Amino acid sequence: MIGSRAFLLPATLLLAACNREQTAVDPQLAAEIAGIKAIDNHAHPVLAAPGDREFDALPVDHMEPQSDPAALRPGSFKTPFTADSKAAAKREHGDQYPAWVLDQIGVEIMLANRVAMGTSVGPPRFRWVPCADALIFPLDNSLLAAKNSDRTAFFALEDKLRARYLAEAGLSAMPATLAEYVARVVTPTLERHKQGGAVAEKFEAAYLRSLAFDAADAAQADRVYRTGTPSAADYKVLQDYLFRYIAAECGRLGMAVHLHTAAGAGGYFDVSGANPLNLEGVLNDPTLRKTKFVMVHGGWPFTREITPLLEKPNAYLDFSSQSLLLSPATLAVTLREWLEHVPEKVMFATDAYPYSNEMGWEEGGWIAAHNGREALGRALTGMVRDGAITHMRVVELARMVLRDNARALYGF
Ligand SMILES: [Zn+2]
Repeated sequence: MIGSRAFLLPATLLLAACNREQTAVDPQLAAEIAGIKAIDNHAHPVLAAPGDREFDALPVDHMEPQSDPAALRPGSFKTPFTADSKAAAKREHGDQYPAWVLDQIGVEIMLANRVAMGTSVGPPRFRWVPCADALIFPLDNSLLAAKNSDRTAFFALEDKLRARYLAEAGLSAMPATLAEYVARVVTPTLERHKQGGAVAEKFEAAYLRSLAFDAADAAQADRVYRTGTPSAADYKVLQDYLFRYIAAECGRLGMAVHLHTAAGAGGYFDVSGANPLNLEGVLNDPTLRKTKFVMVHGGWPFTREITPLLEKPNAYLDFSSQSLLLSPATLAVTLREWLEHVPEKVMFATDAYPYSNEMGWEEGGWIAAHNGREALGRALTGMVRDGAITHMRVVELARMVLRDNARALYGF
């Protein structure tokens, strides 16, 4: 007994020492990574002018109290920004303030997931990712909205956005049939977004329903559409049909489809419904192989489940939000698994978002960019040390994750 204890103790200490050693980023690599201007695959930049509420279709800033993640709590983070420094920068840079923020966090291009863009948040530094969920819930949503207070707020916002899309399509009432609805509202909205510079359509559907968008029959979906107030099960058939229709249209128009795949804000969020494995049927649909699907937030906490999905030719992911909420040490373990599997599908992103007075999109962007780079450095340092990749390959992988994979995907 004594002998085995004497053996175990040094072995445990040795393991702890190894773990500590694995987390240190090679200084030369850290300098390389710091110098790479990133493409941020997913964020919600806010306009320079005050009062902007179009930074998201579903703002999550008025929900019932929940147990907030520790990383978002006031006092748990530190950035170079203060209320005074941000106000001074806004005065100095005016409409160029959002681009100035990108300079501070080492981002060249940020994909802006917003309802609409503005003069201060526009190309070439910001590229548009509009919101498509409103199009897949075209009927009376009161049954779905009654589920909890979050859904009540969310469906009211989606109804408002769908009314806006309807008005932009030149209609004052919903068309009578599904065929007319897709021809006169859905496709024209997507085409207008494309003409407005959109590079992808974003679905926050995981806040509204499960991500299991099953194959659906057009005739059956049309029957549901005509009822106006279907049961939840019948309504799902119509939503499923519309999701796949929009995904196919995005493929035709050369826009990617972004999907929130991760646990989300709010104490009522359906985590299991957001499991990226729910998307397998969509990714395996032969008619959707021309559409590129980006699993935004990398599926957390289902980060192992998402790994084999990267083998689908049209599946990609980013690690936004994980870069903000997780420590670099935790994220590095996930990144390494992905980079050892399909490295050309893994993209850097921040999910910079105006969470609170203390955590604006500036602070969120800075923390996520800093932690994301640190996690990438840790993952790559470990891979070189273990002989999984060469020194030559390590810088190539860093460039791929931080910008080249996104450039290849969107054609920037
Ligand atoms: Zn987001």
